[in-house]
Amino acid sequence: MRIILLGAPGSGKGTQAQRLVERYGIPQVSTGDLLRAAVARGSELGLKAKAAMDAGGLVDDSLVLGLIRERLAAADARAGFILDGFPRNLAQARSLDALLQDLGQPLDAVVQLEVDSAELVRRISGRRSCGDCGRVFNLFTAPPPGGAAAICPSTGAPHRLIQRPDDNEATVAERLRVYQEKTAPLIDFYRSRGILRSIDALGELDEVTRRLVQALPPVAQAPAAAARKAPKAKRASRRPPARPARRRRPAARAARRGTARRKKTPARAVRKQRVSGPRPGKSRARRRTRRRAASR
Ligand code: AMP
Repeated sequence: MRIILLGAPGSGKGTQAQRLVERYGIPQVSTGDLLRAAVARGSELGLKAKAAMDAGGLVDDSLVLGLIRERLAAADARAGFILDGFPRNLAQARSLDALLQDLGQPLDAVVQLEVDSAELVRRISGRRSCGDCGRVFNLFTAPPPGGAAAICPSTGAPHRLIQRPDDNEATVAERLRVYQEKTAPLIDFYRSRGILRSIDALGELDEVTRRLVQALPPVAQAPAAAARKAPKAKRASRRPPARPARRRRPAARAARRGTARRKKTPARAVRKQRVSGPRPGKSRARRRTRRRAASR
């Protein structure tokens, strides 16, 4: 399954993507996460991206495309992926098309998460993540289970909740503006291709996940049960798709085993033989030769 989650900052793409990861066993590919990791590492790419990120603008397409190309070529993305935060503009969408065509992996669906702007701001201001395990929470809509005392699986101590530096009020306003100007045109882009689905992303998390899963085409829904029921299937699904087994013709199989039976004469041919008389077969000719030899 290859899908894009499309939506404004704060629409819940990251949270819902994590749920799809659990459900389908395919990776979430978030360009925001990849860029933040590059910034944290202090890599050259991270240094180039940081200024745009801090200002709430878009990072240069060539940098983002480089990250995506590398990520989608990784083995775990062979069975599919959930794109979160990419593409962010038409140029990126066209480059993605070309890349997926090269990889022979067309998109299954693009799901737009619809949330009104007042709720977006509320959600972004409540967003926190654990500085140790990286889990994302929301103080208003999805607090850590058990509250402030909830334990981080990485440290065994309570989660260390931090706010993203670009989740401040001024940057959020700019990110929402950039979304309207650069990213929202992708809605029409994918609608015109017939792969866009829109869901109401307001409400309980579980309910939104249910709507999201329902919006996915059946081809994308199918691996869900397999991923849940048979964890081994996940590993298998990372292998290149197996070629469909070639069906051997029964006659060829029998011939190989040496158990080939003579072909039955079709009914029509039998009727024809009765009318016009059978053509002498090999055994009849052999019998005739033997009779002639005996009479000589
Ligand atoms: P996100 O976590 O998706 O909200 O992204 C955080 C920031 O990373 C954005 O405000 C952008 O500065 C940058 N960013 C993430 N994805 C992209 C992208 N596809 N193209 C350009 N910039 C991006």
